[in-house]
Amino acid sequence: MAVLLRNPKISIKSFSSCISRNFSGTTLNSEIDLKVPSFLSQNSLLRRQETKEGNVQWVFLGCPGVGKGTYASRLSIFLGVPHIATGDLVREELNSSGPLASQLKEIVNQGKLVSDEIIISLLSKRLEAGEAKGESGFILDGFPRTISQAEILEGVTDIDLVVNLKLQKEALLAKCLGRRICIECGRNYNVACIDIKGENGNPGIYMDPLPAPPQCVPKLIQRADDTEEVVKERLRIYDEMSQPVEEFYRSRGKLLEFDLPGGIPESWPKLLEALNLDHEDKCSAVA
Ligand code: AMP
Repeated sequence: MAVLLRNPKISIKSFSSCISRNFSGTTLNSEIDLKVPSFLSQNSLLRRQETKEGNVQWVFLGCPGVGKGTYASRLSIFLGVPHIATGDLVREELNSSGPLASQLKEIVNQGKLVSDEIIISLLSKRLEAGEAKGESGFILDGFPRTISQAEILEGVTDIDLVVNLKLQKEALLAKCLGRRICIECGRNYNVACIDIKGENGNPGIYMDPLPAPPQCVPKLIQRADDTEEVVKERLRIYDEMSQPVEEFYRSRGKLLEFDLPGGIPESWPKLLEALNLDHEDKCSAVA
């Protein structure tokens, strides 16, 4: 079987089998050569040459509503690698007539995390389908979300870079409540105008709404888990389960912290700058 990963130690099929072994409490598959971090240069997290030539294997972390999907999908177009959001995989499955649908709906609508086993199985399937289409590299969004997911991922491949997007909690809640999705094209928009004044030394933040174009307006929906109660629960779970994942990558020197300075017009060029991507590319990438 052809291999998807940039510097693969195992095939994607082994990804799933390794995971089941890991869950059964035994040691990782001996095929897996636990990795030595290979990517980082001393001063910069990213060298331009590597992003353009290589099939980047990046992860986007950040609280619900921070904009992982927005920036990860833009970068995936920019770099020519697939953007794989486990939240999308879960929503596809819960909207299907598959056996997991009702179980997933209940978990997601309460703001809880789906089990590692289910997530890994959905991700493995997505990677295998991508491999069959000749995809290589990825930007993962929403995975890993637990330490055990991070360990499993580390056991099967090298992650080059982890981008941690950050925004204050008040803005996160407003962004989730204002989020609207076009059921036809799948794009995300936002009706919230965020204007938080700086106080006690904390910076303020302003973010314009992101209006949908006229053709999407009649087809806008709100995610069932974007209600105030559920968003608060998702934020609580993020702090409990996912923040340790930031530390996991920080301790490996792979974490790029990025405080969003505002909406897309302010944040996108700054993000590209932080990633050391060229200015001329920047202009063509902003759709
Ligand atoms: P998201 O679109 O990333 O906010 O994900 C929506 C929901 O899908 C989450 O609230 C979880 O219930 C589930 N989910 C997505 N990714 C994961 C993951 N890596 N681990 C567990 N649950 C996940």
